Amino acid sequence: MIAVDVRVLLFDLDDTLIEVEMEPFLREYFGMLAARFARVCDPAVFARRLLESTEAMVVSLDGTKTNRDVFVEDFFPKIGANPSDWLSEIDEFYRSDFPKLRKFCTPDPLAPVVVQSAVREGYRTVLATNPVYPRAAVLHRLAWGGLDPGLFELITSYETMHYCKPRPEYYREICSVMSCSPGECLMVGNDVDEDLVAADVGMKTFLVNRKVRNRGSRRYTAHYEGSLEDLLAKIERREL
Ligand SMILES: [Mg+2]
Repeated sequence: MIAVDVRVLLFDLDDTLIEVEMEPFLREYFGMLAARFARVCDPAVFARRLLESTEAMVVSLDGTKTNRDVFVEDFFPKIGANPSDWLSEIDEFYRSDFPKLRKFCTPDPLAPVVVQSAVREGYRTVLATNPVYPRAAVLHRLAWGGLDPGLFELITSYETMHYCKPRPEYYREICSVMSCSPGECLMVGNDVDEDLVAADVGMKTFLVNRKVRNRGSRRYTAHYEGSLEDLLAKIERREL
């Protein structure tokens, strides 16, 4: 096989470019959202419904539906609510409640430097965060990390993507949107299950090993493994 140069860098967000205390983050996220829905759904069951509908997005392989379509079709009937009655409420949630979650996020000053230097060195860049969230939620997290959304040619979110991590289809869809081949891509992430799976479609992988997530304690191989400093050095020396 002929080696192809890496031209596209895909970056995971949580615990790759920003550090997030995921457990309290999700608890408060779900709690605040449940409070908004309290008049139609018991907050005690709300979180379970939300998780079920998130899982529905993750398992869906229907390329005709966006992740948001799958979520809306699964979630709202379950809680007996009409989505059109709730859309502005949800927008308001992301405007006024979601920013309160910033306290669970620690920015890494090196992260913007890495992405900026990638752009400067001529790499195309994708924010490949699992598209189970609305774009508004992704943009808030980028801002908390000091990351300019304009640095990314593509930001994956639930409004536009049709698959989720850890599906190989998610990575293939990114290639299709970017009009590139998997062999030209390097996926940078901290998650053995969700990020290293990019290798299954032919991408190279870089495991950021500060806070590795490996649910099944799986044996894994990444093309590269190291810190953001190590990645920065490789970008600057164009060694990828
Ligand atoms: Mg991650």
